Amino acid sequence: MTDLASALERCGIPSDMVSGGSLTVTSPVDGNEIAHLHETPMAAMPGIIDASVDAFKQWRVTPAPVRGELVRLWGEELRALKADIGHIISVEVGKITEEGLGEVQEAIDICDLAVGQSRQMFGKTIVSERPGHRIMEQYHPIGPVAIITAFNFPCAVFAWNATMALITGNPILFKPSEKSPLSGIATLKALEKAIARFGEAPEGLAQLVIGGVPQSEALVESPAIPVVSATGSTRMGRIVGQKVAARFGRRILELGGNNAMVVTPEANLDLAVRGILFGAVGTAGQRCTSLRRLIVHERVKDALMEKVLAAYGSLKIGDPLEPGTLVGPLIDARAHETFVAAIARAQAEGGTLLTGGDRVLGDTAPDAYYVAPAIVDMPGQSAVVKEETFGPLLYVLTYSGDLEEAIDLHNDVPQGLSSCIFSDNMREVEVFVSAAGSDCGMANVNIGPSGAEIGGAFGGEKETGGDRESGSDAWKQYTRRTTNTINYSTELPLAQGINFG
Ligand code: NAD
Repeated sequence: MTDLASALERCGIPSDMVSGGSLTVTSPVDGNEIAHLHETPMAAMPGIIDASVDAFKQWRVTPAPVRGELVRLWGEELRALKADIGHIISVEVGKITEEGLGEVQEAIDICDLAVGQSRQMFGKTIVSERPGHRIMEQYHPIGPVAIITAFNFPCAVFAWNATMALITGNPILFKPSEKSPLSGIATLKALEKAIARFGEAPEGLAQLVIGGVPQSEALVESPAIPVVSATGSTRMGRIVGQKVAARFGRRILELGGNNAMVVTPEANLDLAVRGILFGAVGTAGQRCTSLRRLIVHERVKDALMEKVLAAYGSLKIGDPLEPGTLVGPLIDARAHETFVAAIARAQAEGGTLLTGGDRVLGDTAPDAYYVAPAIVDMPGQSAVVKEETFGPLLYVLTYSGDLEEAIDLHNDVPQGLSSCIFSDNMREVEVFVSAAGSDCGMANVNIGPSGAEIGGAFGGEKETGGDRESGSDAWKQYTRRTTNTINYSTELPLAQGINFG
């Protein structure tokens, strides 16, 4: 039987680190205070950043496959601590056990990917217009990378960024969300164990910054930090993005989504119901990729909604650590207020509440916020539908014409993270993933919008930020590209045939 204190201990988090400080961490499971962390003093920030700059000098010349070896060891430590970190995530974020463990597995998977990637960071060789010349591109380390994370993926999002930053030759400065720092610290502690086994890493390679906006700002505004990866709300990204741009830094923004599923008359409805369920109520609707809009054709709407409502009726809501629970709590009281306010706004904008919306378990857990997942049938895509409400709230929109009508509705929101279509019609699915289809960073076919694998690039367009993390060529964002023209002849011809004297 795992309890939080022993899980923290096994992860190497000493009790004095989680007590006596001013940053209070509350468990959404029961509303109890679980830690009082010491925030990083603002006066310490310049020294932390300097240490990162120093570490860069050594790490950038460590061969990339050797850097990959450190990440391989990190993966081993995460494997050994999977149950404990998963448990901490469940207690701190409220994820059901399966999802807490799944998040750690995602971190392990990205370690594996990064180990291989550390031997595959290639540039191009390009022919030259000049005789005896060759052009090549190289991807070099760039410098310290700040990683600022959201509360809902405290382990995996840190690992996505840290693995890629480390193999590309950069030190990291990690500021976890003030709402879920313990899970992030546990993940970092596993890296520290790997660093100790690795033996040759410079001091200051992986540093922790605890706190909120002021500590974040110190990283965002420092010209010594060339890359800032920030995951969170669009509100935050608007501020951070502009500050990093103002100093010509590189930002990697992973912001809010407003993810939709299009269900056409040619969909397998039973499959769609399963996709809707995991997408809309998994992680209590608190994934950036959670399903928020269901765009269904009028010909199949009644049949689909009958199945969806039946499935919603059998959901087990409650303690995320109890077997069988599918819907855990919202993160805090504020999230609950936002959820309730969005439903009221949707009703004021003409919507009909089909199910859910109530707070449940208030008598047994008065300081926790469990809700019955809500579905609101909307007459159109009104203002509230165009906003991301971070909870299990699904809007139903109906279309009656062709797929183009559904795609127009789909794309008519400010966010562009994830999307999907359910259809067995080859023409419909190809249109949806084509240039005239979904405008999101991720467009899926016959699977829901959430639960991406790490191999592909992850991220979204428009107010989601426009950047990519995780697999594919996302590693390049943590590098500086240099183009080298090499003359191995004994002449000095100029490009474009210029004759200079
Ligand atoms: P948040 O924006 O409140 O906080 C995220 C992080 O930003 C925290 O570490 C916080 O301390 C920091 N921060 C907040 N304001 C800041 C400021 N002005 N300057 C510098 N730093 C600041 O988000 P949250 O509530 O923790 O997370 C939920 C949001 O994150 C949702 O919108 C969700 O869609 C989004 N999210 C996106 C992705 C993605 O990959 N696209 C992944 C997870 C979460």
